[in-house]
Amino acid sequence: MNASFTESMKQKFIDLLSEMDSTIESVQSQEFSLASGGDEADQWGAERDKNMLLKMGDRAVAYRKKLLQGLQKMSDGTYGKCEDCGCDIPVSRLIARPTAEFCVVCKEQAEKSEFKKKLPVLRLM
Ligand SMILES: [Zn+2]
Repeated sequence: MNASFTESMKQKFIDLLSEMDSTIESVQSQEFSLASGGDEADQWGAERDKNMLLKMGDRAVAYRKKLLQGLQKMSDGTYGKCEDCGCDIPVSRLIARPTAEFCVVCKEQAEKSEFKKKLPVLRLM
């Protein structure tokens, strides 16, 4: 991984971080304005909008945390390394998914075992 790539990723992370900050800010301010009355349908709609906003806010908060972790890794010099096997995550993957923590192989394996864990639950249904 060359230094200029890390530098450009760092800039991307900082941009995304401010994007998440403004998302969180707008969620927090909108949440407040949804608290006013209206009829049942309005309230149902407001409730649904509110849930959607909260979900968006949650995602932004979670993503923000990942971005901060990524920035920390960049200063540690471990950014772009798979957390499982320690190999270099391909640049193309990092461009598509800047906060990728695992290489494709480890990610697929994790998803497979995740899927297996879910299977017993699915059988019960
Ligand atoms: Zn790996």
